[in-house]
Amino acid sequence: MYFGADFSSIRADASGGVNGVRNIERERVVSGMVGSDDLVECDLKPRLRLMAVHAHPDDESSKGAATMAKYVAEGHEVMVVTCTGGEAGSVLNPAMDKPEVLANMSEVRREEMARAAKILGVSHRWLGFIDSGLPEGEPLPPVPEGSFSVVPLEESTEALVRVIREFRPHVVLTYDENGGYPHPDHIRTHEVSMAAFDAAPEPDQFPEAGEPWQPLKLYYIHGFSRARMLAFDDILTKAGLESPYKEWLDKWDPDKGDVMDRVTTRVECSDYFEARDEALKAHATQIDPDSRWFAVPRDLQRQAWPTEEYELVRSLVDSTLPEDDLFAGIREKVGT
Ligand SMILES: [Zn+2]
Repeated sequence: MYFGADFSSIRADASGGVNGVRNIERERVVSGMVGSDDLVECDLKPRLRLMAVHAHPDDESSKGAATMAKYVAEGHEVMVVTCTGGEAGSVLNPAMDKPEVLANMSEVRREEMARAAKILGVSHRWLGFIDSGLPEGEPLPPVPEGSFSVVPLEESTEALVRVIREFRPHVVLTYDENGGYPHPDHIRTHEVSMAAFDAAPEPDQFPEAGEPWQPLKLYYIHGFSRARMLAFDDILTKAGLESPYKEWLDKWDPDKGDVMDRVTTRVECSDYFEARDEALKAHATQIDPDSRWFAVPRDLQRQAWPTEEYELVRSLVDSTLPEDDLFAGIREKVGT
């Protein structure tokens, strides 16, 4: 009898295990023919669940994408939640600046998002709110009525609580209190994520939004740090290539500090930089393939900065800082 090593054949323990983690770590996969001399047995690790909450389609591919692809490759479940449809985004790639694209921006961005999710191997949910756009001018104009950043916090929090209770993530990723970048939707994404993380386990909060669920950790995703820019500038210069970072570094206010001061967790994910880049390019209206996003050849990136960075801000498990794994302390809790 051939059992194979098909993960889909593993059934969840009816007891749900710790925090609903499928208690499969004690089950064994037998590959090869039972009774043959070269029978191979290996313990299966439980699939854990990671949820990344983002503001617009394309944010998931520019912030923490390689980390997500890595956890998917390890057999875990990853879900991206996108709060808005990105309707206010303009076309940032000259090759896509066409009337037929502009006329169907909402539909085009949905298709781009579906492609990016497929490349990264993640599942995806739209939270269904309207892009607030990035107000510009002096004074700043108001954001559109009914857009994500001005919808009552309770309404958007309930929508995210519903998805959290359905997917039951062990770890939630979101932006820091500054949004990582001062877009009203990014700041709102932070506020909604924090409120939903706290409300999801409370039975008296949004009782219509599903069975309570307690995520175990919450991290902020930290993007482009000065230290990373310096490392890229240095390796490009040494390789005799032009560095687009010099100008940024020259303008950097030394009193501003660096997000690296806040980083608690660095995830080595350099094998997945290609998936990250392909996912970014799937957002063809938003990403110019000739832009400085792709200025550093991937082999140099792997040498200079093979990680993505996170800040642990909520935790219900024990883990030792600094960490190199978003599931640190959670794997132990479920006995892997
Ligand atoms: Zn965004």
